[in-house]
Amino acid sequence: MKKLLAIFISFIILPIFINANDDKIKNIVNAIDENTLYNYIETIQNFGPHPTGSEECEKVCQFIYREFSKYLDTEYYEWENGKYIGKNVIATIKGKTNSSIILSAHYDSYYNSPGADDDGTGIACLLMAAKILSKYEFKHNIKLVAFSGEEQGMLGSADYVRHLYENGEDIIADINVDTVGYASSREGGKLIRVLTDEASIWVTDIAEEISYEYNLDISLYRQGNFPAGDHQSFIDYGYEAVFFVEYEFNKNIHTPNDIIEYVNISYLTKVCKLVLATVAKIADYEFPIRAKFEEPKIGKIYINDREILTTNKPYPIIFGRTYARINVMGKAKRVEFFIDDELKCIDENSPYECIYKDILFFKHKLKAIAVSINGTDICRMNAIIFNILPPGPPH
Ligand SMILES: [Zn+2]
Repeated sequence: MKKLLAIFISFIILPIFINANDDKIKNIVNAIDENTLYNYIETIQNFGPHPTGSEECEKVCQFIYREFSKYLDTEYYEWENGKYIGKNVIATIKGKTNSSIILSAHYDSYYNSPGADDDGTGIACLLMAAKILSKYEFKHNIKLVAFSGEEQGMLGSADYVRHLYENGEDIIADINVDTVGYASSREGGKLIRVLTDEASIWVTDIAEEISYEYNLDISLYRQGNFPAGDHQSFIDYGYEAVFFVEYEFNKNIHTPNDIIEYVNISYLTKVCKLVLATVAKIADYEFPIRAKFEEPKIGKIYINDREILTTNKPYPIIFGRTYARINVMGKAKRVEFFIDDELKCIDENSPYECIYKDILFFKHKLKAIAVSINGTDICRMNAIIFNILPPGPPH
């Protein structure tokens, strides 16, 4: 009888539970409207060209801060790089864990351009996210980050991500939206490019599911990673990140013609729905396993496994053998270690460690795959290695 009752209850409760989560994303998708997105972009372009360091850039910055603050705790992050200084604007939806999913875009424009598409469209999605996602609760934190300094070489994001890394922040992934509002053909209106690397491909898979499940009339055009935007700062520091960009080439980018008249608002709205729903889904995600490098540390110089100096470079520099240790969240069956995609060690017991003894010079890719019964997670980093010594005695 108890068993029957349990089956009976699960029949009633389960659909309600599934629907509750389903409804949350459905409601988020339905709340995204064209008019609001249009108004955000119009406001941003009407400040005129707003390159990093200009008065107009500061005005756009304040506009974003004001909009974020209507819904969320908001702060500035000040950065400096050579002759440039700037501010990023960060709004946070507090979750129940210490892990964060980041949605990012850049608010600075090219020097002569009003930047409606590049990247007024990305910022419009962020402002929309503040307005809508702030009404819900999520398991993990959601951080909405508006960068400046992008057009000078991702300066605002590089500084910020180094800061996150040095503070040991747990970043699940960064979703960067940059130039997502141009479509002039039927085909272009149904495709969005997603640039990603092997470790971050799971984000694209979730977005793909979302577009199908919620009938968003947009498909993902998957491409390998390319260091074209602020997502690269995250990848440099070993975090997972994807870059969303329109499928068609917009010839108005970086010209005075990057204006709202050339933004396809219904296309942008679809992209924005896809991106916000993906963020919401990840923010409630229960990960079976997650892995990250504990050693070597990015920005450190080592002699064998001894840390001797600190740099601000987005990789470790190692003289001698390379000692790697992986931190695993979840239950791992084993961790596999690779160098330049060649398997080097398998460790089945915590702490998960490997010593790379190969004779190596210059830049190499360190990678580890943590394997559990429910899934795997990949982590990777670049390292500069100088090892001229043949394999020595065991560690
Ligand atoms: Zn851009």
